[in-house]
Amino acid sequence: MSNRTFTMIKPDATSKGHTGAILQMINATGFRIVALKMTHLSEQKAGEFYAVHAQRPFYGELVNFMSSGPITAAILEKENAVAEFRKLIGATNPADAAEGTIRKLYASSIGENAVHGSDSDENAVIEGDFFFSKLEQF
Ligand code: GDP
Repeated sequence: MSNRTFTMIKPDATSKGHTGAILQMINATGFRIVALKMTHLSEQKAGEFYAVHAQRPFYGELVNFMSSGPITAAILEKENAVAEFRKLIGATNPADAAEGTIRKLYASSIGENAVHGSDSDENAVIEGDFFFSKLEQF
């Protein structure tokens, strides 16, 4: 079991000014931020990041949305980080997300759902390395 996961604060939450509140929730839940940057994905980069979803009907919408404005990318550390972070963010669709989760509080739809969280230890490493060089991971 790895102790790291990867997250993005997506363009919807960024443009609504929720970045600080979400980072505060992340720290308050016991995650240590070990890499952090604000950036703006090009369509091409967003497409690469979500290549695993290329055959899904919502892929075009997802790529448009994720390249529509700035995001904050971060690598987080905590025991059992992947599962613990999925618990903190809540279900993909905010309508199904548990009370107190980031998506319940800040997401507006299944597409524009405020945050990303890795779904496995393996993907956490791939996704973290997509945004951060080893020199930027502490
Ligand atoms: P996650 O692991 O909870 O983020 O969910 P998935 O891996 O299933 O999907 C990745 C991302 O694609 C989600 O976080 C949403 O931003 C987006 N997405 C998933 N399902 C839909 C959908 O039905 N419509 C749209 N527009 N976007 C979706």
